[in-house]
Amino acid sequence: MNQFNWDTSFLVDFDIETGRSKTARATKRYLSEMKEMYFDARAVEKILENNDPLIYEFHELGCPERAGDLAFGTTIVYPGKVGKEYYMTKGHFHTVLDTAEVYYTLAGEGYMVMENPEGDTLEIPLSKNQAVYVPRRYAHRTVNTGNEPLLLFYTFAADAGHDYGTIETKGYHKLILEENGRAVVADNQKWKVSP
Ligand code: MN
Repeated sequence: MNQFNWDTSFLVDFDIETGRSKTARATKRYLSEMKEMYFDARAVEKILENNDPLIYEFHELGCPERAGDLAFGTTIVYPGKVGKEYYMTKGHFHTVLDTAEVYYTLAGEGYMVMENPEGDTLEIPLSKNQAVYVPRRYAHRTVNTGNEPLLLFYTFAADAGHDYGTIETKGYHKLILEENGRAVVADNQKWKVSP
């Protein structure tokens, strides 16, 4: 898809209720595509016996991966849990590690869970009308801790690239779990020192 001319200005509509756009390309992630990422493997299997829920989707505009351009779009994380763990995105590092990203929360609540290759972690609450800065070198994942869809607008350097594999293999150091009806940050006991 390359319907926009990224050498000139253009407008894109995003529906404020759904985060969707008539012109953006939607990518949907179902539980079966990310079952290794949840802490409670038994809870994953139990859910998948009956259905394969949509966990999140993102909408992108086909920005060329050129230095200087800004890719942007929306991410929607649906409400729900796998065992005690809230629905979340896979998360990724940028291939060009020294590239940051901005996310703006349009609706819902949750966490931006971040960590760098040295193992420093950041867990920042997300709430409507706040933007969060994801610094260079930090892998980032969004988690929906609320009862409605978590809707975010994002923008990042178009040539940043996405590295899903590193964090997919090791997992994140921190998990966002429900304890006594509220979201807590917990250590990931399954975090792998070396893949
Ligand atoms: Mn990113």
